[in-house]
Amino acid sequence: MKNYQFTAVDRFLRYVQINTQSDPQSTTNPSTEKQKDLSRVLVQELLDMGIADAELDAWGYVYATIPANTAKLTVPTICFCSHVDTSPDVTGAGVKPIIHRQWKGADIVLPDDPTQLIRVADHPDLASQIGNDIITASGTTLLGADNKAGLAEIMDAANYLLTHPDIKHGRIRLLFTPDEEVGRGTEKVDIKKLDADFGYTIDGEALGTLEDETFSADAVKITIQGVSTHPGFAKGKLENAMKIAADLLAALPKNALSPETTEEKEGFVHPTRMEGNQDKAVLEFIIRDFTEVGLQEKETYLQNQLTDVLTTYPGSSAQFVVKEQYRNMKDVLDLHPTVVENALEAIRRVGLSAKRRSIRGGTDGSRLSFMGLPCPNIFAGEHAFHSRQEWVSVQDMEQAVAVIVNVTQVWEERS
Ligand SMILES: [Zn+2]
Repeated sequence: MKNYQFTAVDRFLRYVQINTQSDPQSTTNPSTEKQKDLSRVLVQELLDMGIADAELDAWGYVYATIPANTAKLTVPTICFCSHVDTSPDVTGAGVKPIIHRQWKGADIVLPDDPTQLIRVADHPDLASQIGNDIITASGTTLLGADNKAGLAEIMDAANYLLTHPDIKHGRIRLLFTPDEEVGRGTEKVDIKKLDADFGYTIDGEALGTLEDETFSADAVKITIQGVSTHPGFAKGKLENAMKIAADLLAALPKNALSPETTEEKEGFVHPTRMEGNQDKAVLEFIIRDFTEVGLQEKETYLQNQLTDVLTTYPGSSAQFVVKEQYRNMKDVLDLHPTVVENALEAIRRVGLSAKRRSIRGGTDGSRLSFMGLPCPNIFAGEHAFHSRQEWVSVQDMEQAVAVIVNVTQVWEERS
């Protein structure tokens, strides 16, 4: 991509200043209307590039096509996907991006809250960024590199392909989703209309990484029905639902099976919410593992703990409801090894060492893979996401653009 003036950073700085925080309590699609503020900007920029079919639908999804320019008829349609929303965990209102040019390696102070120090010791990936231009927020908000870095990179790659017709590629579809951070990013996606064969989310972390494996995920909701009486006349009768719930939480192991005690390929049982009174209590959990068997074992374990606790409360009962959330994309990707192979080749072609990783989480690609669009995750350069110390480097973003362009070329050559 010699002599090309990258546009990713300019786009990124615009996108992060638009507040697109999603809301897990909302039941509307999208969960927050303001996400469309960014989606509309994206559609306008796509139209300005000459992509005539760019559109925003009622649910907040952006679809657009870069038509094929190869004579080969065998090249599959490839989709690139990123999400417009930012995490509900940290505010995304009033983001002030700062570029720390030619970073020298010292801890980075964020001016609006000096207690938010980005320490090299806490962010090991910074070690390889010396001399690069690092973008951060100002200390009071997240940055939103998750996933606006991905959006900016896909937009820039589209711009590159449209201004370099000598680069041959097949049909390309772009998809920008709302509500990924609240687990509903693919809820209203129209997979028929998307009409792509294979996809890539551009939502990964470190330079050169490709993630082809995610957690498998279920949610469990336990509703405990206690025995309620007037506390003055409760002796031998009252069974307090809140105490039953507390007993169950206390029965979980302290040194295992939790997010705070596990890593790499270990799964967990994680309480996420509790609510109740003496009559009735509700506990919500998320269950995570890389295999279906592991997921099942953890659910059985939790159910057995509940049964044990209830033996000391003979008048009480509980409901245990499991809801599937998403599944490990590897089960699908193993059937389509070319998708991963071509991305690894594209990463190598830009001069990076390709690193294959698994994610302790899910992506839009986890669900898209099971909807018929095998969809691993390529790095976007985003780091420390969902925090006020989030950062991305200009140079990593430009490498991601080059990888996206190369992915389209590899598919064209090999089809
Ligand atoms: Zn993301």
